[in-house]
Formats: sequence, structure tokens, C-alpha cells
Amino acid sequence: MNVTAIKQVCVFCGSKTGTRPVYREAAESLGRAMVARELGLVYGGGSVGLMGVLADAVLGAGGSVVGVIPERLATTELLHAGVRTMHVTTSMHARKSRMDELADAFIAMPGGFGTFEELLEMITWSQLGIHRKPVGLLNVAGYFDRLIQFFDHAIAEGFIRPKHRQLFVIASDPAELLDLLARHRPPVEPKFVSLAES
Ligand code: AMP
Repeated sequence: MNVTAIKQVCVFCGSKTGTRPVYREAAESLGRAMVARELGLVYGGGSVGLMGVLADAVLGAGGSVVGVIPERLATTELLHAGVRTMHVTTSMHARKSRMDELADAFIAMPGGFGTFEELLEMITWSQLGIHRKPVGLLNVAGYFDRLIQFFDHAIAEGFIRPKHRQLFVIASDPAELLDLLARHRPPVEPKFVSLAES
């Protein structure tokens, strides 16, 4: 994937804004940085939390936003009213596949279980060779430091291949992360689970 190949970026982030203003500011800054690079946003379709802040920032800067939401979350209360293109899927699994179809790269911002699950599934799919798209962690104010340390622990304990540490890139600044994603080449070494390994 080269720089020009990334057009749509799927961002996973919290349905809450977090306790500190720095998270909201980072979502606004990422939204503006994406529009400056003419990158469209694919996201969870919600109006709440960092998701809503990010979508508002992209729309406010004149960018393109596509929401992908499962029908059980598609209530008027939670759906972002300003997003014109909304894909409604029958399940969470269908939603993830649709996001993968629509996006050329993935970013995780601070969030909770939903965000962790989405990030880890996209890293896992990359590990298995299901996609070969760049994945980035926007490590706002060190939010992901302990998760990254835990990944390193899993490598040290022999559960993750050292090479697979390069399945994702990390930056604390949105513009820097977008630059890293544009250059990111995930390792082409799909995990092969042999009987001896399993
Ligand atoms: P969490 O990190 O647990 O707050 O969950 C956020 C992630 O889960 C987002 O990236 C969304 O894809 C999904 N999600 C959680 N709540 C909602 C919601 N109300 N509307 C749309 N997506 C949601």
C-alpha cells in the first residue's frame, strides 16, 4: 500500500469522551488532520463520546464521513444525525467486515472495551493475512502505554511473534500517526498455526 492508496481511514474510539479534555482535543485534531490530507472517515456511526467529536470535526472541516452501525445501536438517540452515508448492518460482525471493506487503514483512539476489541480484531486479521492494511494507535497522553507494555510482555513470554509487533504503528500526534500509516508496511508473514505450535 503506498501513500496515495489510503483514501478512507476507519477510526475506532470511545463512546465516551474520557475524563480529561486532551482526549476530545485529540479527536478534533485527528479529524482536521484527516481532512487536510483528503482522507475520508469511516467510523461507528454514533453521536456519542469521541466518536461524535471526531465525526463533528471531520464534517466541520468539510470532509467525508461514513458511518457503519449495527441495527440494534441505530437508535435516533445514538445515531449521528449529520452523517448522510450510514450503513446499517444486521450484526456487530457484519459491521466489522463492512468497515474492513470500506477502509484502507485503521486507527484506534482512546476508548473502552469496544475500542480494544475492534483494534485487536484488526491486528489479528492482519496477523492472519486477512487484510494487509496499516493499523495505528493514537496514543493520546500515554493512554495505551500499559496495553503496549502488555503486548511486549506477550512477546517476551512467547505468545506473539516479535515480528508481529510491527503489525501496528504508534504515535501521540495525529498528523504524525497519519504520516506513519502512509508509510506502514505490515509484515507479510501470516501466522501459521501448525499442530506443533497449537
Ligand atoms: P467503547 O470503546 O467500549 O466505548 O466502544 C466504542 C466502540 O464500540 C466504537 O468504535 C463503536 O464502533 C462501538 N460503539 C460503542 N457504542 C456505540 C454507539 N452507541 N454507537 C455506535 N457505535 C458504538
